[in-house]
Amino acid sequence: MKKALVLGGGGFIGSHMVNRLKKEGFWVRAVDLKFPEFSPTQADDFLQGDLRDPLICRAAIDQKFDEIYQFAADMGGAGFVFTGENDADIMHNSALINLNVLEACLRRNSKRIFYSSSACMYPEHNQLDPDNPNCSEDSAYPANPDSEYGWEKLFSERLFLAFARNYGFESRVARYHNIFGPEGTWNGGREKAPAAICRKIALANDGGTIEIWGDGKQTRSFLIVDECIEGTLKLMRSNFMGPVNIGSDEMVTINQLVDYVAEISGKKIIKKHIDGPIGVRGRNSDNNLIKKQLNWAPTNSLKWGLERTYPWISGQINMEKQKV
Ligand code: NAD
Repeated sequence: MKKALVLGGGGFIGSHMVNRLKKEGFWVRAVDLKFPEFSPTQADDFLQGDLRDPLICRAAIDQKFDEIYQFAADMGGAGFVFTGENDADIMHNSALINLNVLEACLRRNSKRIFYSSSACMYPEHNQLDPDNPNCSEDSAYPANPDSEYGWEKLFSERLFLAFARNYGFESRVARYHNIFGPEGTWNGGREKAPAAICRKIALANDGGTIEIWGDGKQTRSFLIVDECIEGTLKLMRSNFMGPVNIGSDEMVTINQLVDYVAEISGKKIIKKHIDGPIGVRGRNSDNNLIKKQLNWAPTNSLKWGLERTYPWISGQINMEKQKV
């Protein structure tokens, strides 16, 4: 039986990956500070532990795995990443995890490992025009990410590639662009735009007002988690190391995103634009490289993803209301 290790397996993408690997017949170990929030883990073995501790990393990587997925990071949406208040923790915690994980893998000769980088590593100066951002993989340098989160991702993707060059690792690096979907964080300050907007609209009355950070004209693309898992597995099992974008190239403004969710909810919603952390002006996944290397790109639309996410978040809100 093939064995897989999912680091960050209690988080959003990690728990979806655990479920998928179980469906494929893998024996799966997951490691995280916390168990998945919204449904029981499907992992055969779940180690609750802190990957900043090298001894926990060595305990987690106590054997050779066929596939290792590294999702653990100190992360969140714009409200967590762009305020500047969490910069030291974001850089320190995530870099330590990646350093420890690779060292423990080396000791066990367990060298096939996927790393989840982020579109936040792309230079700010290529993302000033909301209608025409450049996020092709070869535009990464000269580097100029707009957040410390992006700088740490850049450092760590180089770290995984250095282990590939010097120690023969089969590293695979993807740059995720805004992944969303059911069982993702939807409140508490670490949630991202699609979840925050679904929550605000679910809580609003028909004809009600919701607050939007910035003028809403900033552009982004959003990828449903099912497609993210599909692309990640395709990359992991290919001969291509990356870094490669895994994202949707269906670019929308935040105002359009609000309109889509409002339509799904069946409510009329008034937008109130307020000051808030917004990140770069425009961002979109450039999918030329993934199409060329993996002969694959996501095909499900943003609306398709939102139609699955909105009912889940409004269901969570109803469950919370019943608890009170
Ligand atoms: P998430 O926060 O749901 O998952 C990360 C998990 O890592 C959490 O469960 C957290 O508890 C765990 N973790 C943090 N510190 C840890 C530690 N010291 N020891 C053990 N576990 C620890 O986030 P996600 O959305 O599932 O993202 C997974 C990965 O993908 C992250 O590396 C993230 O930076 C990257 N990524 C995500 C997106 C996105 O839109 N979701 C976009 C780009 C990149």
